[in-house]
Amino acid sequence: MKNYNIAVVPGDGIGNEIVPEGYRVLEAVAEKHSFNITSETFDWGAGYYLKNGKFLPEDGLETLKGYDAVYFGSVGLPEVDDTLPAKDYTFKVRTNFDQYVNYRPVRTYPGVQRPLRTEKHIDFVIVRENTEGEFVQVGSQYLPDSENGMGIDTSIFTRKGIERVAHYAFKLARKRRNKVTHITKSNTLINSLSYWDRVITEIAAQYPDVEHDQMYIDNSTASFVLKPEVFDVVLTTNLFGDILSDLGGAVMGSLGLGGSGNINPEKDFPSMFEPIHGSAPDIAGQNIANPYGQIWSAAIMLEHLGEVEAANNIMEAIDKSTAEGVLTKDLGGSASTSDVADAVIKNL
Ligand code: NAD
Repeated sequence: MKNYNIAVVPGDGIGNEIVPEGYRVLEAVAEKHSFNITSETFDWGAGYYLKNGKFLPEDGLETLKGYDAVYFGSVGLPEVDDTLPAKDYTFKVRTNFDQYVNYRPVRTYPGVQRPLRTEKHIDFVIVRENTEGEFVQVGSQYLPDSENGMGIDTSIFTRKGIERVAHYAFKLARKRRNKVTHITKSNTLINSLSYWDRVITEIAAQYPDVEHDQMYIDNSTASFVLKPEVFDVVLTTNLFGDILSDLGGAVMGSLGLGGSGNINPEKDFPSMFEPIHGSAPDIAGQNIANPYGQIWSAAIMLEHLGEVEAANNIMEAIDKSTAEGVLTKDLGGSASTSDVADAVIKNL
């Protein structure tokens, strides 16, 4: 029997509630589809930092390398400097493991009320470049306490970085509805993002069968709200993809609905799967957090590992559960976090 060994990192806040529920769904689907899941849980994150002065042990990345995938919640606590969680955990894993694709799908959930007027079916994927761009954290603060203080962050876009994520997006479009919309702001960021445009356009020429369209970030935010059905694969930079995917969550009906994968397509390193939102300290500890995005992330993980039928089974069970009205508070319902996992398991 095939076995997948998963590193489980719940992180902080609601991660400690939604990750165990998502893992319960994983175990149930594995049993049904005759494969085995083993795991170890690591208590890393901002809570770990408060006790140990670091987000993960020195050999933490080395430890993660021994697993087939990482099933992650989110990191960050109000009592910890919020410039640290991304730098010291999330970006560390994404960059060291070359997880250069952040795969963030957006779709309609049956039975979930959306904030948009359109009744049309929405189904697109944001492919966010995940290792460079605006989030390389190369910069400095100069005399921050003085009246001449300044802060500088540099964005870095490399040909290699743009090409590889573009190839991923165009190949993905071929498996979907054959359209890539790439989103930049090259009319104002005339060096970095016009270079991005140029390289994407070169790669697009290698996929003549895929429709290729370019949009500016300002227009795209309006289009996400006014005509989200026009998108298939949205290819964008690290910062823009981060922002657009929260908007994608809102378009679905809640941030809690979005699943994602930080993917190393070559499988040289484990990939990491997490919901699109943060640790939501405002609702932590109440068993009311919406776990659908975390459960969806488990399906994305199984698809990446090659268990496509099990992944589809989870998605069908999610749809049945929302259609039956098993909805958490953020969706206007009264189901608890564990009620949702129970319903998904029943519907597998
Ligand atoms: P957040 O996504 O945690 O929360 C934003 C709002 O959405 C809150 O009102 C929250 O209650 C709600 N929400 C989020 N997920 C929900 C869910 N599953 N069910 C119901 N409601 C949900 O964003 P924030 O408040 O800006 O950040 C909180 C902390 O999370 C910060 O420390 C931040 O740095 C961290 N963060 C971590 C990651 C990550 O680890 N990848 C990502 C984003 C934010």
